[in-house]
Amino acid sequence: MNKLSPEQDRVINGKGTEPAFSGELLHEDRTGDFLCAQCGYLLFRSNAKFDSGSGWPSFTEPANIENIELHTDTSHGMIRTEVTCRSCGGHLGHVFDDGPVDKGGQRYCINSLSLGFEPDE
Ligand SMILES: [Zn+2]
Repeated sequence: MNKLSPEQDRVINGKGTEPAFSGELLHEDRTGDFLCAQCGYLLFRSNAKFDSGSGWPSFTEPANIENIELHTDTSHGMIRTEVTCRSCGGHLGHVFDDGPVDKGGQRYCINSLSLGFEPDE
């Protein structure tokens, strides 16, 4: 397990949300892998990242559907689908069905604080 900052702990283990447009990885556009900030598990790849305009890193699909878990989240008076890391259970964000239609229509809206980035060589 990696050492988390207090802000990361609040998001990952407290199911928090970072402020929009605050994430370091929001504009990360290099080729590489997005890993769980807490346990290092592979979660997303750069080829699925797109600019949704939402203010959070957005992906059309996970690196492998087996690497994440989806849960129904009824907090805050909304019905949403929470995305967590399959390996450590850490909170990543939510998935919505308003993503790019030509890429499957999904938008994984993920906190930058929940992710680490490993650029390809
Ligand atoms: Zn993890």
